[in-house]
Amino acid sequence: MDIQCEPYDSEMTTLVWLRDDLRLSDNAALSAAADDADGVVVLYLLDEVSEHLRPLGGAAKWWLHQSLRALEHSLGQLGIPLVLRRGAAEELIPAVARACGADRVLWNRRYGAARDHDTKLKTALRQSGVVVRSYPGDLLFEPWTIATRTGTPYQVYSAFWRACTSGHTPADPLPAPKQLTSVQRDIESESLDSWLLTPANPDWAAGISSRWEPGECAAHRTLGEFLEDRVQRYSRRDFPAEETGSELSPHLRWGEISPREVWHQTLSTGGHVGMFLSELGWREFAKHTAFHFGPLEQRNLNARFDTFPWIVERNAGFDAWKFGRTGFGIVDAGMQELWQTGFMHNRVRMIAASLLTKNLGLDWRIGEAWFWDTLVDADEASNPFNWQWVAGCGADAAPYFRIFNPDLQQKKFDPDGAYVSKWAPYSMTLPKIIDLKTTRADALQAYHALVR
Ligand code: FAD
Repeated sequence: MDIQCEPYDSEMTTLVWLRDDLRLSDNAALSAAADDADGVVVLYLLDEVSEHLRPLGGAAKWWLHQSLRALEHSLGQLGIPLVLRRGAAEELIPAVARACGADRVLWNRRYGAARDHDTKLKTALRQSGVVVRSYPGDLLFEPWTIATRTGTPYQVYSAFWRACTSGHTPADPLPAPKQLTSVQRDIESESLDSWLLTPANPDWAAGISSRWEPGECAAHRTLGEFLEDRVQRYSRRDFPAEETGSELSPHLRWGEISPREVWHQTLSTGGHVGMFLSELGWREFAKHTAFHFGPLEQRNLNARFDTFPWIVERNAGFDAWKFGRTGFGIVDAGMQELWQTGFMHNRVRMIAASLLTKNLGLDWRIGEAWFWDTLVDADEASNPFNWQWVAGCGADAAPYFRIFNPDLQQKKFDPDGAYVSKWAPYSMTLPKIIDLKTTRADALQAYHALVR
């Protein structure tokens, strides 16, 4: 990459490029910029053209719009505008740096598919005389700091999490900068509304809007309320009607709160929080796995499954599944919860994913893509990681032969039918689209043929 930056004028400026870190607190790049007395420009770039970035799904775009609005507001209180630009980073970062006379470009790290491109950009900017610094991003531990004794990445969750939690402590979160100095010149910016991230015609996001409040303030409030109340009932997290989860996943996905903040605030409350923290461990494991073995949405982590005879065409079974019309109450309720609010309870995600991959025999990538489009927390690591986990081809995955029976799962985790009645009361009258017994037998036969 060849980047020519013009010589800088006398006002030296720091450009902070925000990505999956839409917050002011525990934002190392922003804190470092706060030390720069000459001026700070904060940029968010919507890159819908670079092939290495997975295009955002509809629900994720909705969240991004609201989150950027909230960020604009909190930066505005510090007198700093949020500069919005659309295009490829390799062109726009140097261009914006040039336009604002930036001698420093700072960002917090990404660990997925974008990181090689970030590294190339860093090199190119440095060659043109710009100082570039990157800081720890949205993890508790940098992926290269957690390794087995022989230096290889962990592939089993329990060993991974033991290694994380013995001898390592996540860094203390940084406070939000109290002050940032704005630059004395106009920097070209686009209007958020012009990005058309929210649906208009039809506006399918009403249910999402009424359930969620994106933004850093809401993220901290959600954590506070969880730690005051729900955490005490967290051991019942598998019961979807009881609403005992933190519901922090979209806030974490967009970096409105950092996992380090969640970790330290949770520990400071005392009590039995190990189970909750270990779920953050799954998030960490998914992201470390993506760092070492990704991208995860394309390839089976266990290559043995490359010849597995999954159905790769979207068929009538898939349509019934995605619209919650399978006749299996808990699956239909989950798919309705997802469609209406952009979220689905974790246990129900597992049951729905199992029905699709094992009983309907569809390729996990088809279900993963639907979740990617409809989840507000759709994450490039967690989503395919969990799909592969359920499908049996992933890291430390549920063994393929363990096939959820949705009727039994419903009896166990929604015994009085409260969850199903809330989201899919109609499901009880629907004929079931498949026979569990025969489809299970077919799945096991295909699996045994693979491992024979
Ligand atoms: P809590 O129980 O309160 O857990 C706290 C945090 O830990 C969560 O906010 C989340 O960040 C993390 N976490 C919990 N469980 C997992 C897990 N299994 N894997 C990774 N992180 C976890 N989570 C996403 O954030 N994005 C996704 O795209 C996503 N796709 C999924 C797809 C499938 C098929 C399955 C089975 C799970 C998926 N998950 C995904 C994981 C999990 O369902 C959600 O993180 C969880 O439901 C969020 O609810 P919560 O915030 O109340 O979680």
